[in-house]
Amino acid sequence: MRNLGPQWEHHRLAVQGLRHTTLLGALVIPVALVMEWSLQHLGFGDANLARAATRIGGMFALMVVAYAYVRWRGHALRHPELLGTLLMWIVGVMGGLCSVDTGGFESPYNMAVVPILVLWVLAMPGGARAALAPMLGGFACYELVLFGLGPAVGRPGYAIALTMFQVLSIFVLVIFSERVHRWRTRATIASTTDALTGLLNRGYLYQRTELLIARRRRRPTPLALILFDLDHFKRINDQHGHAAGDAVLRHVSALTLEHTRSEDLCARMGGEEFLIVLDDCDPESAMHVASRLRERVEASAVLAGSTPLQVTLSAGVAICPAEQDLDLDHLMHEADQALYRSKHAGRNQVQFATG
Ligand code: GH3
Ligand code: MG
Ligand code: MG
Repeated sequence: MRNLGPQWEHHRLAVQGLRHTTLLGALVIPVALVMEWSLQHLGFGDANLARAATRIGGMFALMVVAYAYVRWRGHALRHPELLGTLLMWIVGVMGGLCSVDTGGFESPYNMAVVPILVLWVLAMPGGARAALAPMLGGFACYELVLFGLGPAVGRPGYAIALTMFQVLSIFVLVIFSERVHRWRTRATIASTTDALTGLLNRGYLYQRTELLIARRRRRPTPLALILFDLDHFKRINDQHGHAAGDAVLRHVSALTLEHTRSEDLCARMGGEEFLIVLDDCDPESAMHVASRLRERVEASAVLAGSTPLQVTLSAGVAICPAEQDLDLDHLMHEADQALYRSKHAGRNQVQFATG
């Protein structure tokens, strides 16, 4: 699973979740003002619309600032879920103030607590452990403000029942967030990795490389591609069956992961063809990685029943220097040409692209 980059996915989902929740907050909060205004005109609700406007305006401003910040700096945030937790706590305090002003436990804001928590579970990644601090913390902030500043509770039975319902909802939601987390992880794995080998799939490799290209514009580094293909693989399938062929593919994939760095991208491009993208890697190191992998594959064997199967690989290595813009298709073409030369020169070897 190393290649999936679970941390990377988690970060991306957390930033996306923050963006969605703050945007939704910014869009929904003005509706609250309209609702308060309408309620007053119907003879219910706040006696002081100006106070409601200040309070709701404050929450709106917070959401807009948070949204703009996450849009602008989201990718660079080290711990997006921490910012989310902080926001949840502030929203808890502000929600508490809103409730104090609009009827304490019977206020419409008190009813909105659970939907807000549901939204958090659906938007943010991380499961139970990640959900507990923002949810319980935000709820505790809310209750503290409501109890501390709120009007005397008119109907204690109602207040206790509602609070119990909210606390119970949090625990149900924490369990639900664990489920959502598992579904999301499964869906992520299915859409980003190759089912047989666990390496990245072709589509996801291109997606990740796009990000590398964007990053290289800010901090240029040499980037290397190692494209390799197993030699006479058809024979293994023909002589030992498809299951044996599959076992060989899995074995070579495991060796590939073992002999590359955790930040390298290793993908199965299709059939028995693989690609490794090595960022910040000079030509000598790339050739060294490819040659070492070739040696290890040649020296190892997979057992098909009691028969040891041996396989070799041919590879092509291409480099995009730091000062050059990366054109992935062009670089792939160069690596492919080098691989083709390896095949023609007798297989089981590594060739460097001549450019
Ligand atoms: P060369 O050295 O020129 O690359 O010869 P080759 O036999 O490896 O090349 P070729 O492209 O003719 O054969 C590739 C074979 O890989 C054909 C196909 O049956 C097999 N193959 C592709 N995908 C899978 C797979 O998922 N599992 C198994 N077991 N075999 C696969
Ligand atoms: Mg082959
Ligand atoms: Mg092939």
